[in-house]
Amino acid sequence: MNKFKETKKWQTLEKKVLNKNKNTCKICGATNTVTVDHIADPKYHKQLIYKETNLHTVCERCKEAFHTKFKHSYRCKTTQKDWDRFIELYKVLNLKPKKKKTVTKTKVK
Ligand SMILES: [Zn+2]
Repeated sequence: MNKFKETKKWQTLEKKVLNKNKNTCKICGATNTVTVDHIADPKYHKQLIYKETNLHTVCERCKEAFHTKFKHSYRCKTTQKDWDRFIELYKVLNLKPKKKKTVTKTKVK
């Protein structure tokens, strides 16, 4: 599933998106551990894997928080709507990812 991440195409795109977003997490503004993530899960939207508009930059913590919160939808299909909801929730609840989590690392992607 992660094969595409090893392609030159992805790596170029990744850099581009990171640059465009100034290496900043679009949710919390963190500038460390920022990664490029898909908005709509490419598992279900194959045609969107290399689609720049389907990519955004989020930090590891937000990504994980999102995936925890919307695990269900994540496993099915994540859409921009889910992210919007998450960002909204984040703002309202000021969701701060806990420092030490006991979340077991399940590599979903
Ligand atoms: Zn973040």
